[in-house]
Amino acid sequence: MDYKMIRENIWQIADDHGVYCTLVKGERMAILWDTGYGNSDLKEFVEGHVSTDYMVMNSHGHPDHIGGNSHFGCIYARKEEWDVIEHFAMETTGKAPDYLLKELKEGDIFDLGGIQAKVIFMEGHTKGSIGLLIEQERLLLAGDAINDHLWMFNYGAMPISRLKEMLERLKEQPFDTFLCGHFESELPKSIVDAHLKNIAVLKMDQKTKCNTIGFETYVSTYEGQEGRSVIVFSEDVLI
Ligand SMILES: [Zn+2]
Repeated sequence: MDYKMIRENIWQIADDHGVYCTLVKGERMAILWDTGYGNSDLKEFVEGHVSTDYMVMNSHGHPDHIGGNSHFGCIYARKEEWDVIEHFAMETTGKAPDYLLKELKEGDIFDLGGIQAKVIFMEGHTKGSIGLLIEQERLLLAGDAINDHLWMFNYGAMPISRLKEMLERLKEQPFDTFLCGHFESELPKSIVDAHLKNIAVLKMDQKTKCNTIGFETYVSTYEGQEGRSVIVFSEDVLI
């Protein structure tokens, strides 16, 4: 599998179709963040490059982040996301998850040995989306929660008002860049401001109406000095 060394001990691993997982390696423990579509042998890759125990976490329950879960015995995720994981596992495989789900709570800190990771809630994209803050590197692993192309529709998506609350909270968190599930490199924190500016002008414009993976959606775009924000949303999140 291809990977990019973001830091010596933080690797962005390329899965299929432009999807990325992240490996954080400490002296005593490692974390695999998301499991991609599950078509490649991520477990073999991780075990070939990690000599310690490791935990597997899901940033959220979409199929391109949980597809490889069944290769691992135990998956950590926020409890509010468990039914989202179950929903998409059923939708894509036709069966319930065959692995154990364990709960992550806001503020959980994992001391991996030489590097610490802290769980923060990043609800919006889905109701139980989380981020992993690596404060000493001022880096956030954000899953899909603040992608520059941010999808706000489908099972588990929250109202835009809740996304806005989360983004305002996130501005106070100590990071400068973030990794997301659909880009190989770090993106600047200023994209959080671009999303907030986009939300301020977001509306259902018939000119941007389109079909996105079978859902009737609208697209709102903002581009400024903060960066670019594209929010793809369905009507039901505008409550
Ligand atoms: Zn997603």
